Amino acid sequence: MLPSEVEKHEQVEGISWSIPCVTIEDKPRFTWRGMHLDVGRHFAPVEFVKKYIDLLTSYKMNTFHWHLTEDQGWRIEIKKYPKLTEIGSKRRETMGDSTPYGGFYTQEEIKEVVKYAKERFITIVPEIEMPGHSLAAITAYPELSCTGGPFEVGTTWGVFEDVYCAGNEKTFKFLKDVLKEVIGLFPGKFFHIGGDECPKARWKKCPKCQARIKKNKLGNEHRLQSYFVQRIERFLRSKGKRLVGWDEILEGGLAPGATVMSWRGTEGGIAAAKANHDVIMTPTSHCYFDYYQGVPEYEPKAIGGFLPLDTVYDFEPVPKELTSKQSKHILGAQGNVWTEWMPNTRQVEYMVLPRLLAMSEVVWTAKSQRNYDDFIKRLEQHYDRFVYRDFNFRVPTPLGLGAKRYIFEPTEIELRSPVTSASIFYRFDGLDPTEESIEYTKPIRIADDYTLKK
Ligand SMILES: [Zn+2]
Repeated sequence: MLPSEVEKHEQVEGISWSIPCVTIEDKPRFTWRGMHLDVGRHFAPVEFVKKYIDLLTSYKMNTFHWHLTEDQGWRIEIKKYPKLTEIGSKRRETMGDSTPYGGFYTQEEIKEVVKYAKERFITIVPEIEMPGHSLAAITAYPELSCTGGPFEVGTTWGVFEDVYCAGNEKTFKFLKDVLKEVIGLFPGKFFHIGGDECPKARWKKCPKCQARIKKNKLGNEHRLQSYFVQRIERFLRSKGKRLVGWDEILEGGLAPGATVMSWRGTEGGIAAAKANHDVIMTPTSHCYFDYYQGVPEYEPKAIGGFLPLDTVYDFEPVPKELTSKQSKHILGAQGNVWTEWMPNTRQVEYMVLPRLLAMSEVVWTAKSQRNYDDFIKRLEQHYDRFVYRDFNFRVPTPLGLGAKRYIFEPTEIELRSPVTSASIFYRFDGLDPTEESIEYTKPIRIADDYTLKK
């Protein structure tokens, strides 16, 4: 209702603003309207986390999934296990850059962020990864692994074979101690334990893990993982928390009461909902904001994939396969921001904006009432708001050219800006255009050999 200038930090002179007297009747479609942030691969300082929470609030998301531990860094202070941050929060280098990297949040900082989020009606769901993606933790405490180490905090991206030993009671003692401290910091009812991408190579050769499989008649390593998650689920439940895990927690049998975050497609979510478990939909196909949002050769380096704005907008979180009763188990959806290729928070902003706004409509509005053209029109005024709030964002590309076009006859190319007030610049030498390049004012006549970049 207010013009975008309201977002400016400095006072705007000579304008009088008024808000019409209105009644707004609205309600979100889903209770889980989430955005995620991985601070393990690249750390985000407290100031940025607050800015991110502000952004979520502006676009009426209500859940912030904070991914706090990874192979490449443990990011939360645990008083009982100080080496988790002394050793586990630092890595020697990143992808061969010879530069040490690190960072973590003290418990005081976590409390400050939780309070900040609460004041803005955002619930934080912490994630402490297990049994996989735990290399930073077992580097600090190698006795929690199958082999005993030594290890080094991850310096490359990917999935590592060294994970928590599932046959060792020390592992469970450690995790319960850690969870106890983390539970004390986050008042929300959901608690994420990861559970994804846990290779079984070490468990297959570990006498302790094999003894556990035998003793508990588990039969195989998948069911050992299920045993692991079920023990943690019982502990969380005893503390009044509900466990959330990535869809791999379905393998080997789902822990009772567990909520599934379906990421490798929607199949895991469908299976879980059919078994009367709650589900959050975050399939890579529509929800992975680390994927490219445009043609890769014109975009900053990303992990891969292709997830343009209209695909996010087009997402339907409730799969057709579910009955209306089963559909009630779909709590909502979430955009995931994995930061392997986001070395700084400016890049996080770029990957999130404007896709976050599309995700917001996905979780607020019924599919039948969504209209992409209308969304694009309404999106226009938000670009100014991003600028005033000092957010980096992806500038939409001109319409009319497509990703790539090969032309063999003399022709005219007509371009249109997707934003009314924006200008289009182009050049013919194959280099990136700037504001000093030719400004588009009329259709471009092509009668010679050129590579046109806009
Ligand atoms: Zn083991």
